[in-house]
Amino acid sequence: MDYGLGGALALVTGADSGIGRETARMLLQEGARVAISDQDADSLEQVRAELAEHGEVVAVAADVTDLSSVKALFEQVRSELGDPMILVHAAGVTGATGDFLEVDDAGWQSTLDINLMGAVRVTREAIPAMRKGGGGRIVLIASEDAVQPYVDELAYCASKAGVLNLAKGLSKAYGCDNVLVNSVSPAFIATPMTDAMMDKRAEEQGTDRDGAIKSFLKEERPGMTLGRRGKAEEVAAAILFLVSKPASFVNGANLRVDSGSVMTMAG
Ligand code: NAD
Repeated sequence: MDYGLGGALALVTGADSGIGRETARMLLQEGARVAISDQDADSLEQVRAELAEHGEVVAVAADVTDLSSVKALFEQVRSELGDPMILVHAAGVTGATGDFLEVDDAGWQSTLDINLMGAVRVTREAIPAMRKGGGGRIVLIASEDAVQPYVDELAYCASKAGVLNLAKGLSKAYGCDNVLVNSVSPAFIATPMTDAMMDKRAEEQGTDRDGAIKSFLKEERPGMTLGRRGKAEEVAAAILFLVSKPASFVNGANLRVDSGSVMTMAG
């Protein structure tokens, strides 16, 4: 399929790692120019250097919890490359986990601030130039947890339900300006995020990471019919489709990349 991305300018947050990084790589391979962003400038620079063999890529460090940092990110991208007409927002954290009664306000607030308010801050900065430029594409990374909550990560689930709702709401608000907003909802993808979850589980269960993955799939993710963790490139492929030229009539959709984990048909 020709994605029609040659020369397009994309901004990818959370691009230091996992899904964001893989999306940046695939966008570059399709001929897009890409600005990558994440928290740690040194580590991001290493990723930029690795990705540079695939095309034109600049790195701008920013913290999505800090409005002035997000504004500075867009200013720098604008001055170096121009206004991004594609935004893929992959920055996110597992956040506060555990029994609901044990998670305090600070845990809830920081999880919501990074996952939900981070998405609010970056989309609010991105949309005006897209409207002015005749349209754009935004993909927010939600999660299966947005519609299927797990009791030990309720702050994460609520934050991702907010992201899902935000994507749908933005699609209604700005579709008339040809700014198409969609979400992708992965489940249990092999990235540093789930590596950390599985290492914790392995320690608790006295097993290794593979043992933890096996028991997690059996006990916690029975709907994942493929019986394995997903790969970052399998999520990036869905994102690539949503920002591609052929997806020009897809707006307000949530594309599940979850091996069947979500049990319901709705949502
Ligand atoms: P990851 O940990 O590999 O990457 C997330 C990136 O977000 C990291 O590089 C991190 O530094 C960055 N980030 C965190 N807080 C930030 C902040 N305040 N400012 C800027 N950047 C920040 O995880 P991933 O698995 O690639 O996750 C990408 C997205 O996909 C996240 O939103 C995550 O919630 C979502 N997701 C992942 C899975 C999965 O199984 N891995 C499943 C569902 C949803």
